[in-house]
Amino acid sequence: MRMILLGPPGAGKGTQAKKLVEKYGIPQISTGDILREAVKNKTSLGQEAKSYMDKGALVPDSIVVGIIRERLHDSDCAKGYILDGFPRTVPQADELKKALKAMGQSIDFVLSIVVPNEDLIKRLTGRRTCKECGAGFHLLYKKPAKDGVCDQCSGPLFQRDDDKEDTIKNRLTVYNKQTEPLTQYYRKDGALVEIQGTGGIQDIFGRICAVVEKQG
Ligand code: AMP
Repeated sequence: MRMILLGPPGAGKGTQAKKLVEKYGIPQISTGDILREAVKNKTSLGQEAKSYMDKGALVPDSIVVGIIRERLHDSDCAKGYILDGFPRTVPQADELKKALKAMGQSIDFVLSIVVPNEDLIKRLTGRRTCKECGAGFHLLYKKPAKDGVCDQCSGPLFQRDDDKEDTIKNRLTVYNKQTEPLTQYYRKDGALVEIQGTGGIQDIFGRICAVVEKQG
């Protein structure tokens, strides 16, 4: 099963992708995670990407397309994968199509998670991540037992630089301008399935699984 998770920042793509990985045993490919890891390790890729990410802007297409081209050839992608946060522009979607064609593959379906703007801002500003193990928390919806401390490994929790309010607003603007057109792009291909991304994590996951069972 090869699927794309589409949706604005804060729609819960990462959270839902992790649950899909557990249930279906295929990898999540998140360009955001790959870029954050490169920033953390101060690689040349990370140094180039950081300035864009800190502003909430998109990293140039050529960089992320290069990352994805390489990643799709890894052996763990043989049975399928979940693309999370890629593609984010029409040129990226075109490049993905080309790369997949060359590999004799195509995407089975694109799942778009729909969430109202005001919910997104609330979700993103409250998000916290463990510096040690990467576990996710939320100040409103998934509070850690002890403020600022990870329930799983006692590591310190931090707020992503790009989850500060000004950057969030910019990320949402960028989404509406550059990524939202992809819903029309994939609708035309007959590949788009939309689900409501409001309510509890488990409810949303149920909606997603229903789509996967039907399409996958
Ligand atoms: P995410 O975790 O998916 O919200 O991504 C965090 C940041 O990484 C984005 O705001 C962009 O700066 C960058 N990024 C992630 N994926 C892409 C992509 N497909 N194209 C361009 N920039 C990306």
